[in-house]
Amino acid sequence: MDCSITVIPGDGIGPEVIGEALKALKFIGKKYGHRFEFTEALAGGRAIDETGLPLPPETLETAKKSGAVLLGAMGGPRWDGLPGHLRPERGLLGLRSGLGVFANLRPAALLPQLRAACPLKDEVLAAANPEGKPAFDLLIVRELTGGIYFGERGRSADGNSAFDIEKYSRHEIERVLRVAYGAAAARRKKLCLVDKANVLESSRLWREVAAGVEKDYPDIETSCLYVDNCAMQLVRAPGLFDVIVTSNMFGDILSDEASVLTGSIGMLPSASLAGVPGRGNGAGGRPLGIYEPIHGSAPDIAGRDIANPLAAILSAAMMLRYSFGLETEAAALETAVGAALDRGLRTGDIAGHGAGSGGIAAGAEKIAGTREMGEAVLKALE
Ligand code: NAD
Repeated sequence: MDCSITVIPGDGIGPEVIGEALKALKFIGKKYGHRFEFTEALAGGRAIDETGLPLPPETLETAKKSGAVLLGAMGGPRWDGLPGHLRPERGLLGLRSGLGVFANLRPAALLPQLRAACPLKDEVLAAANPEGKPAFDLLIVRELTGGIYFGERGRSADGNSAFDIEKYSRHEIERVLRVAYGAAAARRKKLCLVDKANVLESSRLWREVAAGVEKDYPDIETSCLYVDNCAMQLVRAPGLFDVIVTSNMFGDILSDEASVLTGSIGMLPSASLAGVPGRGNGAGGRPLGIYEPIHGSAPDIAGRDIANPLAAILSAAMMLRYSFGLETEAAALETAVGAALDRGLRTGDIAGHGAGSGGIAAGAEKIAGTREMGEAVLKALE
């Protein structure tokens, strides 16, 4: 298969971690006979330095023509003093809106090798886990371009009251629901709609639309949960969940809560999709997406070969799955990440979490740098 990928390494640790993800993709390309065509583009701080703009128009054009965008991170103290419209974050927001990515997918899984990174007790983790193991593996699908973050807002003339409007159209709700159902179909076939339908009219519209969409996915078990209850269940029994689909603000909050349960920010990938898998404009009729680790540019550790590249590598796996439909290759990459951890390798951010679990005896962990961890993943792919 031919896959065109726009690569935006970005700032800080971005180029370091994306470098390791690219090595893994090139290896996968050779092993499975795919041609990955990478086009590097500028955005964020580096783009400001080189062109004066956080998102040069050529970057957006290149990204629109490709099947997927692989992104590091943007920003850093060096550009903090610039006016709002010229800051690196504008590059990210411009890219998201320019590509119309409306569904943000954030997996949160507890790897057995990093068991100790999770603050929850074994009994809690095992409680609702289908296999009775102290583990969870969930995916939050968050609506990304609507709702209260984009709604009308304002203040009264005297400044003593303010409002932010949560507004969703049927179209906005249906398209993100279909992404979530598509993801659930490829996972454990459970979908939970999280809302506040006991109070909010917009949530009641989500339920109404979901009741219609659900009929197209008869093999998916659908449930609904109020957001306050979901926040509680995530720390009471995260194993209950497979796919959670929710609005922009609820997803923002719940995905941060879930990420804390998994260990380091250096482990978590994400995908932002512009279409429903199988119906979009990417290769093979799949949606264009932006794939990026959830962490930022980590200027405090940049350039020292100590950043964890696994979130970037796992983001590349999501890209293979969702934008190119390469499930076997995506799974191979994820398995290779697990194998590197099984060998006891740990970047600094995840060191000390595996002792005594995942087959690694206390004291048997080996601190690895960014490149060494990337190499270990390549080795496991062989
Ligand atoms: P951050 O995620 O960059 O760093 C938070 C902490 O986590 C730091 O201590 C950092 O060293 C550590 N960390 C992050 N990624 C790591 C990795 N892969 N391996 C090991 N440790 C890692 O968040 P921040 O410090 O709040 O932000 C730094 C810059 O990144 C800011 O300019 C911010 O605006 C930007 N940012 C960009 C994005 C993005 O591009 N999507 C997201 C968040 C923050």
